[in-house]
Amino acid sequence: MILQQFFNENYNKKIIHDILLTKKERGKGKKITMKPSIYGLTLDQLIAWMAEKGHKKSRALQVWDWLYRKRAMDFPVMDDVNSDCIEVLQDYFVIQTLQEHCRQEATDGTIKFLFKLADNHLIETVLMKHKFGLSVCVTTQVGCNMGCSFCASGLLMKERDLSSAEIVEQIMKVQHYLDERQQGELVSHIVVMGIGEPLDNFESLTNFLRIVQHHKGLAIGPRHITVSTSGLADKIVEFIDTGLSVNLAISLHAPNNEQRVQIMKINRAFPIEKIMQSVDYYLENTNRKITLEYILLKNINDQREHALQLAELIGDRRQRVNVNLIPYNPVEEHAHFQRSAKETMLLFYDVLKKQGIRCGIRLEHGGDIDAACGQLRSKQLKQGK
Ligand code: SF4
Repeated sequence: MILQQFFNENYNKKIIHDILLTKKERGKGKKITMKPSIYGLTLDQLIAWMAEKGHKKSRALQVWDWLYRKRAMDFPVMDDVNSDCIEVLQDYFVIQTLQEHCRQEATDGTIKFLFKLADNHLIETVLMKHKFGLSVCVTTQVGCNMGCSFCASGLLMKERDLSSAEIVEQIMKVQHYLDERQQGELVSHIVVMGIGEPLDNFESLTNFLRIVQHHKGLAIGPRHITVSTSGLADKIVEFIDTGLSVNLAISLHAPNNEQRVQIMKINRAFPIEKIMQSVDYYLENTNRKITLEYILLKNINDQREHALQLAELIGDRRQRVNVNLIPYNPVEEHAHFQRSAKETMLLFYDVLKKQGIRCGIRLEHGGDIDAACGQLRSKQLKQGK
């Protein structure tokens, strides 16, 4: 039952079907598509699954420790776990399913990884170096259906959701890379801001967050994790109700509906009023501040009047709302969108500040590589690599 539930939550039907074949059926030559990665299990799911297989909780804790603390890349290296247990784990799971396809390194230490999934789709993951630690930006979907008109990721429609294992594995691949550098570096922060709309892949996202936060594993606390959404207001409310209490960032990018709908199609379903209702729900139900993301697009949303409208929209919430102003990373296919001039950005910032709005201009990472989200992936796909 636990196993069925896990597969239902994490894997597409074809894979569920194939993986649930009995040993006997496999022996008859039925095709096995792939085994899922064990990274998709929360600790509770692992304990329950191992109990079904006749193994004690302490054994599950050992395996968990090997996965996240000792960072084993294969089951047989778990040398204090008995061989029966290793055999059953190997029978049902693999550890790794992602392969590194290519990597770009920027002079500021940012590294963009392009990973190949088991079904050959490519996804991006980015490692960024900050004064406060190392953060990893993860992808949650192959492509994206939200269709934000300035975005490189949105150029390629969604092919499928990632499983929670595939999202966890992005963190683990980066951590393994850091381990190889032998400088004792640990991933300390996670931003769910890569390709895809995370709240459109709700189950995988929430499972992923439970896995990476667990204090016996990676132990990345909720204050070190930020989930960014294009503003699916109903899902934001559902997400707050899970109690996962990570930081939330909403991509607003315009101060009024007329303008927002021009650059974000999702505004038709969730106009700004609905988004602000979900902001209020967040503020009422958590003790956190919320971030509004605002990409500054030259002559589109970067004028003084837009800053004033934004300040008015935030209104009385100003003590608990941060505005994150983002310099635009130009994308070849969206040539009509350009980066605002530095002076314009500073002016916008000043206007907000004078209105008492907490705000900052996001520091850029990886300016000398394909820095825009989805840019490296779409370039590689165009080149047929
Ligand atoms: S900005 Fe985010 S939500 Fe919008 S198309 Fe790009 S990846 Fe999707």
